[in-house]
Amino acid sequence: MRVTRNLITGGAGFLGSHLTDRLMEAGEEVICLDNYFTGRKSNIAQWIGHPRFELIRHDVTEPIRLEVDRIWHLACPASPVHYQFNPIKTAKTSFLGTLNMLGLARRVGARLLLASTSEVYGDPEVHPQPESYRGCVNTIGIRSCYDEGKRIAETLCFDYQRMHGTEIRVMRIFNTYGPRMLPDDGRVVSNFIVQALTNKPITLYGGGGQTRSFCYVDDLIQGMILLMNSNESGPINIGNPGEFSIKQLAEKVRALINPELKFINLPLPQDDPLQRQPDIALANQRLNWSPKISLDQGLPPTLEWFKSIV
Ligand code: NAD
Ligand code: UDP
Repeated sequence: MRVTRNLITGGAGFLGSHLTDRLMEAGEEVICLDNYFTGRKSNIAQWIGHPRFELIRHDVTEPIRLEVDRIWHLACPASPVHYQFNPIKTAKTSFLGTLNMLGLARRVGARLLLASTSEVYGDPEVHPQPESYRGCVNTIGIRSCYDEGKRIAETLCFDYQRMHGTEIRVMRIFNTYGPRMLPDDGRVVSNFIVQALTNKPITLYGGGGQTRSFCYVDDLIQGMILLMNSNESGPINIGNPGEFSIKQLAEKVRALINPELKFINLPLPQDDPLQRQPDIALANQRLNWSPKISLDQGLPPTLEWFKSIV
């Protein structure tokens, strides 16, 4: 049987590089495509020169022709600091990037998995969030470029499926953390760990009463691979239902690194969701997936990573 040929857009990023590792270790072919906006060559350096691995510098807002069996479409900055840096580019990446990748999937008969997000639920009035919840999203705020970008990306996937029979897999990813997050990407886990390691006060936005549910990267990648291999189009939530307030996370990081650290309160950014927790019943039933690694188990290896780079 021929080896599966995978295209991973955003393959040099946090999640894309972990996925690259898993597919390479499984003996498959991987083409990693990235424009290096938030990705790093060092994340996939271990595979450069391997006969089953190729690296392409390319921006998904431009079309590309490649012969592949599977497209893992992850290209898009994920942290608010990065996706708000150039919001028009973020919207283009989600819309044009997904359109181009669906066009490619249609042309070569590849299956496409979209890395969508819990942000499609916005600031949710339903808690926890099942896939059937349609969300509460501001169309004109500072998070809209990302939230609405992912919503139109999902729409495009389902229209390609209906119009052209393209095989799609739509995954709604909830906050994920682990080694290879960027130290300066502004996400809460990286911010808190880097602040604690450099003896700076921990920055709680809006007092830290808002909640998030944190999934360790290995669990997330396992869910992503199961979804790609399944017969489910989705959308399917993949995340860890363990819900914590941001202050609870700060307390965990402080206890792990330096109990003397102070907290400082800063204003809550506009449209910052107050609560977020995945309902993962569907992933459980259809993919037989549930996360195995708790926040207490996932923080130490994440901390080791940051110690090695900060
Ligand atoms: P990341 O920023 O580390 O990775 C994104 C990658 O895409 C980077 O390597 C970046 O350089 C690349 N990229 C960005 N714009 C591009 C473009 N126009 N053309 C080509 N490459 C481009 O983020 P991540 O955490 O690895 O997220 C990967 C995907 O998962 C994203 O689509 C994100 O929206 C989604 N997601 C992630 C999370 C999370 O908690 N990490 C949560 C929900 C959804
Ligand atoms: N947050 C915080 N301090 C920080 C960074 C983030 O209190 O230094 C909060 C942020 O306001 C949000 C939560 O942590 O409520 C998660 O933020 P992140 O940017 O990681 O992800 P998202 O908001 O996209 O879920």
